[in-house]
Amino acid sequence: MDQPDIAVVGAGIIGVSCALQLARQGQRVLLIDRQAPGLGASFGNAGHLATEQVFPIADLSILRRLPRMLMDPMGPLRLDWKYLPRAVPWFTRLLLNLRAAPFQRSVAGIRTLNEASLAAWQQLLASIGRGDMLKEDGSLLMFEHEASRPALEALGLRMRQQGVAVDHWSAQAVAQAAPHLSPTIKGGLFFPRTGHFIDPYRVLVALYEAARGAGVQFTKAQVRGGRLGSEGVTLHSELGEVRARRVLIACGAHSAPLVKTLTGQAVPLDTERGYHLMLPGEQQRLPFAVTSLERRFIMTPMSDGLRLAGTVEFAGLDAPPSMQRAWQLHRLSKGLFRQDLDAEGATPWMGFRPSLPDSLPVIDRVGDGRVLLAFGHQHLGLTQAAVTAQWVGGLVMGESVNPAYRLDRF
Ligand SMILES: Cc1cc2nc3c(=O)[nH]c(=O)nc-3n(C[C@H](O)[C@H](O)[C@H](O)COP(=O)(O)OP(=O)(O)OC[C@H]3O[C@@H](n4cnc5c(N)ncnc54)[C@H](O)[C@@H]3O)c2cc1C
Repeated sequence: MDQPDIAVVGAGIIGVSCALQLARQGQRVLLIDRQAPGLGASFGNAGHLATEQVFPIADLSILRRLPRMLMDPMGPLRLDWKYLPRAVPWFTRLLLNLRAAPFQRSVAGIRTLNEASLAAWQQLLASIGRGDMLKEDGSLLMFEHEASRPALEALGLRMRQQGVAVDHWSAQAVAQAAPHLSPTIKGGLFFPRTGHFIDPYRVLVALYEAARGAGVQFTKAQVRGGRLGSEGVTLHSELGEVRARRVLIACGAHSAPLVKTLTGQAVPLDTERGYHLMLPGEQQRLPFAVTSLERRFIMTPMSDGLRLAGTVEFAGLDAPPSMQRAWQLHRLSKGLFRQDLDAEGATPWMGFRPSLPDSLPVIDRVGDGRVLLAFGHQHLGLTQAAVTAQWVGGLVMGESVNPAYRLDRF
């Protein structure tokens, strides 16, 4: 390829979706990743089109439960105390964002993306002839203890106030729709405008192949830095220099250093590490994605098995994974089914959610249009990838930046 119009750094679900969009707009696109496409957070997420999740990653109620949660090393939230000094500025911003006005701004920003997500995915998958990869059959948040009912109902009300489609399901409705679940399940909230992907990695590969077909080239290289010049951007990679008219930074949780180098701005990006345990052959147990309110994890039926996923761990990008947290997901599932799930042949995995303290991504155009940014989608990167790609396509065409997602809000 002659000099590309745009170098997309990061071949996760955000970078690949954007690369395809930009190639279809006639741009010559070079996609760069230090590993094969799709092996970051986008590989192993829960596959849930989570349009119902309109609230930021923390709220005041979590704050009250926090001390107890942090004392339980196998609980849904873990802080590596060695990491605390580095995380303090991020947590401080997170706390400040719990105040009413910023909290509402975050909700509005998440809603804007989530409300456009389903249609954007339908369009994107239809355009590659793979509408079958998204199962639009809703998802369930279930509960087991009567004591949880008021909290569940309050959540349902808050969601409805934010325009989320919510149905209240009785124990009988749950038993009818998901007969393998334990009869101890008391009911739940069903979200009809959500769905799940048959396998997030396969979706990414299908998009990547479509991108290649549309002319996108791929280079496997780590981008170590770069500089802006009058002609565009020069990136420094282990394979040498790459020149392009523009760059899109879509490196997920690893985006901050390149953003700093190319824009001069420090961005408070951290990672909420999450885990999954893939149980081969167990996908028939559930018809759709089911989350346990009390146990705080999700189970999604996928083409190769049932994926148990969740937990939030603050330990940074460098600490090795604590895979016992993935296995803990199987222990957590005990008692949720009439017959316990079989973990024979199960595979554990850990990934880095890219999280900013206001729970909104950065989707921006800076540096006189030479630098585009699309990162920080926290728990919702799969959900919001297709709409992010549409917006990035718009930014390249000169559309204005939505101020809610600007880099300089930090
Ligand atoms: C356990 C878990 C469950 C989740 N469940 C869901 C869910 O159900 N629904 C949902 O919507 N979201 C979910 N998420 C969140 C979602 O997975 C992420 O938000 C999303 O994958 C982020 O995509 P990305 O493309 O920004 O980052 P990534 O997929 O991490 O991709 C970034 C890429 O950049 C590359 N890279 C980084 N730095 C460089 C560099 N310097 N040079 C070259 N390449 C570089 C990496 O190799 C990587 O391939 C979940 C996450 C986890 C961990």
